[in-house]
Parts: sequence; C-alpha cells; structure tokens
Amino acid sequence: MTPQTPDTQDSAGFPAQQQTPPGLTEDMVPTPDHGESSYTGHDRLVGKKALVTGGDSGIGRAVALAYAREGADVAISYLPSEQEDAEETRRLVEEAGRRAVLVPGDLTQEEDCRSLVATTVEELGGLDVLVNNAGFQMARRESIADITTEHLDRTFKTNLYALFWVTQSALEHLGEGGCIINNASIQAYQPSTSLLDYASTKAAITNFTVNLAAEVGERGIRVNAVAPGPIWTPLQPATQPSEKLESFGTDTPLGRAGHPAEVAPAFVFLADGASAGYVSGTVLGVTGGKPVF
Ligand code: NAD
Ligand code: MG
Repeated sequence: MTPQTPDTQDSAGFPAQQQTPPGLTEDMVPTPDHGESSYTGHDRLVGKKALVTGGDSGIGRAVALAYAREGADVAISYLPSEQEDAEETRRLVEEAGRRAVLVPGDLTQEEDCRSLVATTVEELGGLDVLVNNAGFQMARRESIADITTEHLDRTFKTNLYALFWVTQSALEHLGEGGCIINNASIQAYQPSTSLLDYASTKAAITNFTVNLAAEVGERGIRVNAVAPGPIWTPLQPATQPSEKLESFGTDTPLGRAGHPAEVAPAFVFLADGASAGYVSGTVLGVTGGKPVF
C-alpha cells in the first residue's frame, strides 16, 4: 500500500540558495515533495474538470496531481518560462490516467486571464472546480519606501486582478455544485514587514472569498480559501533572501516548513462536494500550527 505521509525528514530549514522569479523546481535543493510517491486517490473527484492557475509547480502541482489521482481532468496555467515545470505536471496528471491541458500565459494581462478560461472550457468540455493559486511576492526589501509602482503592479495584478478576471470568466461556466478555491496565506493574519504588499493582497483574498461566497451561494456554488503557512516551493528561493531559507518554517509550532503534498489534501477536501458540500465562505489553514484568525 502506498504511504499517505509525505517525506518531511529534510524540512527543518534549507540550504541557502537563490533563483530569480518565478523560479524552477529543478534548481531547488532539496526537491519539494508534491505527493508523487505518497498521494493515494479515492475517487473523490471522478469526472470533474478543474483549472489550477500556477499549476506547474509547488502547491499548484501538488493540487493538480491529487485532483488527477482523485479522477479529475486538469488544466493548468503558468508563465511561458515555466514550460519544463508544466511538462512535469502534465506527466503526473497523465500518469494518473487523466487529461492535462497546458495553457501558458501572463495573468497580469486581462486577455490572458479571459482566454485561459475559454481554452480550459473548450479543451475539457466544461468547468467544475477553479483553483486560483498563482501568486507573486518579493521579500528582498526593507521598507515601504522600496516598493516601486512596477513592483506593486506585479503583486496586485497577479494576486488580485487575475483573481477577479479569472473568476468572472469562470463563473460564466460554473454550475450547481461548482466551486472556487483561492490560495490565501498565513500572511493575511500574521503579516511580515518584508511582505507588506503581498500580505495586503492575501488579506484581500480572504475578504473576497467570504464576500463572493455570499453572492454565488444561491447558484449552488461554493467559494473557499486555503491559507498555507511556510511551504517549500520555487516561490521561496526565488523571492526570499538566500540566508533566510536556512531557518524557513522553523518558527511554526511544528518547527518546520511544509511540503506542497501536505497542502493539497485541503484543496481536495474543499473541492469534494460529498465532504465539503456545506462548507463555503471559509478559510482553511495549513500552517504548521500558526493561527488563521
Ligand atoms: P510556485 O512558485 O510554485 O507557484 C506560483 C505560481 O504562480 C508559479 O508557478 C507561476 O506559474 C504562477 N505565476 C506567478 N506570476 C504569474 C503571472 N504573472 N502569470 C501567470 N502565472 C503566474 O509557489 P507556491 O508557493 O506553490 O505558490 C502558490 C500559491 O501559494 C501562491 O498564491 C502563494 O502566494 C501561495 N502561498 C505560498 C506559500 C509558501 O510558503 N510557498 C505560503 C502561503 C501561500
Ligand atoms: Mg512555477
């Protein structure tokens, strides 16, 4: 029987290392665990059609893998420079016997957000689950004075504008029993000074989640968020100061960072109508023990 527990033995801090955004999985030491050898599906999403933004790597790849092993077909979006990571997610989805659709694009651009949903619906034949997972942060700065307008645009357009654009388009296709799951963050509740702009967007995402759930509930559509704590993904070496990775996650009650494989089951639970059919407008923390309230 395949073990259900991801490999976490090497997670108490990481070697100093640095990449430029968006970062690639292959250059990370150690390689993140996306559940490749641990996730066992139980037919919880059979026949569902899911779109996972930023599904090439990190949490998004683990979600795509888990959804596929639960029986869903999966479309993923990613930046063109992440093609090799996207190909690996495709391989994992197809290995699970499901369809994978790869849609490269830049979600800071409205037309890319709109065409992402259109392509997904055309290729998969519909849409049941939208996972708004793509995100951008940059923690290598000291003060609010260091935040340029260009940087602010990138953070807010990736994390918030895209959330509105992709969700608007997806709601034209989601029906009764459909659901939306947003990737928020512990940063919505315990913001780091070095992530002032990013943390602001994550707080907005939790607000958006509760508010949209109230709007679309009457259509039988559920809207929830997952708030991860420190998770070992390409985002970290691409955006944190190199030396900070050596203690990354050790300030949590569990004393370590999590792997993407440890976050994906929360996205499965929220997508599975049989388990979470009465769960909407909530934020599920996967934080290693840090409070999300
Ligand atoms: P990741 O780098 O693997 O995934 C982020 C993805 O966002 C990238 O793969 C990229 O495809 C996508 N993206 C970024 N800018 C984009 C753009 N302009 N156009 C299209 N796609 C773009 O890292 P991750 O940590 O798995 O991040 C996934 C989500 O998890 C993000 O929303 C992040 O804020 C959130 N999160 C991460 C952590 C963590 O510690 N890693 C903690 C809390 C929340
Ligand atoms: Mg990536």
